[in-house]
Formats: sequence, structure tokens, C-alpha cells
Amino acid sequence: MSEQVLAIDIGGTKIALALVADDGTVQAETVRPTVRSPDPEAVFAPAADGIRELVAGPAFRAGGRLRVGVGSAGPIDAPAGTVSPVNIAAWRGFPVAERVTTVLEASTGTTPTVGLAGDGHCFALGEHWLGAARDVDTMVGLVLSTGVGGGAVLDNKLFAGRTGNAVHLGHISVNAWGPRCVCGCHGCTEMYARGPALVAAARESGWTGGADAQALTADARAGHPIALDVIDRGMRALAAGIASTATQLDVSVFVLGGGVAKAGEVIFGPLRRHLADFAVLDYVADLEIRPAVLENAGLLGAAALGFSLT
Ligand SMILES: [Zn+2]
Repeated sequence: MSEQVLAIDIGGTKIALALVADDGTVQAETVRPTVRSPDPEAVFAPAADGIRELVAGPAFRAGGRLRVGVGSAGPIDAPAGTVSPVNIAAWRGFPVAERVTTVLEASTGTTPTVGLAGDGHCFALGEHWLGAARDVDTMVGLVLSTGVGGGAVLDNKLFAGRTGNAVHLGHISVNAWGPRCVCGCHGCTEMYARGPALVAAARESGWTGGADAQALTADARAGHPIALDVIDRGMRALAAGIASTATQLDVSVFVLGGGVAKAGEVIFGPLRRHLADFAVLDYVADLEIRPAVLENAGLLGAAALGFSLT
């Protein structure tokens, strides 16, 4: 009989919860909006409701071992079980693992095993388990959207790092003389490659198109020279960050997802072209950048995390 985990994916706009079988089948799912509130418990309440709904439903398999994988926007402290998502202001050191445990104990009578990982790590786990990198043992997953997140699976195991924040590719410096980043460092990848940075650079160059990176990539596809130029420069920065990560970890498969990456060839083309300039050592010369294939990699990655708990 197949096993089951509870997967929870906490983001800035929504919290997705699902019961997932060990073949990746989503057996039940519910989604709650992320509440804007200064009260940390008010933000958690909809997630607690979602958990109670799933374990009260027909898909829940009661009686066995109860494992839970939680993926959250970061930063996180995995060993402590706490999260401080940049985009959820009420949660600073919020003990999400403990809260999930309390809700499950009250609603099922069973004490669960709860694992916590960052959303970039869960993205990597999901694409490795069921997505674009399911044929390899070692890979890096990258999310290019309003930020740049990442995670690595090495020899079929998540490389979490000491606090659960390893492979924070957005805040690797690719320009030691660059401007100061919000994180305090200089010339971080994210400052050049994230969606809002591409848009800001385009505005500075006189682009008057739509409001966001989606509009910018659409203009690039139509051949707009400013849009093409700023994407080219942004992808050069990302290529430097990817090559640096590949060189450090000796990884040759990267999976790129996220809202900006969905634009397709207009992003992947310049990225691959610039990689040839940075990934130059023999062992990274065959570096592959694959487009993500899953719509819910974060949630499935949280499930993979749950199944990895002993
Ligand atoms: Zn930074």
C-alpha cells in the first residue's frame, strides 16, 4: 500500500496544502490566501483550517505514521523550525513546525514528524522527483521571478546547509564593485536578473512599455531593442551566478522556473549564450539549463521532503 504525506507550501500570496501519495499523486488539495495581518496567528489560521479540512476528509489515511513537509518563503531556520519570510511581515522567527504539530495532534491524536525547507529547496526537490531533472541524481533548481531562489539535490538528497538556506543563488555576488544590495552585500545576482531589476533597467534606458517583467519579455519577443538589451545583461549576471554555483558544486543540470523564466527562449537563449563565457572548466562545460515542467513544484517538493523524513 502506498504511503502518504501532508505537504504545505507557504508563499506570499497563497498557502497550498495537499495529501500526496508516494508516486506523486495529489490525493486531496486545498488553497488558502495568505492573509495580510500584523498578527502572526491570524496569518497561520487559514493554514490551520486547511490542515483540519484535509485530515477530516476521505483522502486522509489515519492510523499510520504522519509525516509533513513544509516549504516556505525564506529566510528560514530549518533546525529551529521557524520562518521569517521577507513577504510575510508578521512572521519573524515564526515557529511554523511547532504550530503544524499542535494542529495535527489536536485533530488526529497523532504526533507528526515535520520537516521544513525553503521554497527554493522545495522547487528543486519537486523538479528532481517528478519534473525536468527526474533522470539525474544531482541537480540545482532555480526560480527566477521577483527574486532569484535556488536549491540543490546532490546524490538524490537535498543539500539543505546548516540552517536550511544553502545555494542562495540570488545573493551570490557577481560584481564585487557593484552597488549595495538590500541584503547588505554588493553586486548580487538578484540585483541584475530578478524581474523588477530587469524592468527598472529598461525604464532607465527609456523603455515605456507595460508594468512588469511579463510585458518586458513580451516586448523582447517582438524584437524591442531595449527589452532585448536589458534581458541580455540580466541573463549575463545570472549566467555568472549559475556558472559559479556549478563550479563550486560540480553540478551539470540546472532547472530554471519561476514567472520570468516562463517567457521561454527570450530568457533561455541569452542565458545559455552567456554561460559559455563563464562555465569554462572542463567539468562544467556541458552545463545544461532545462526549463521547469511542473506547475506545482513547490508543493510536490514539500511532499518529497515529507517522504525523506525518517
Ligand atoms: Zn544580496
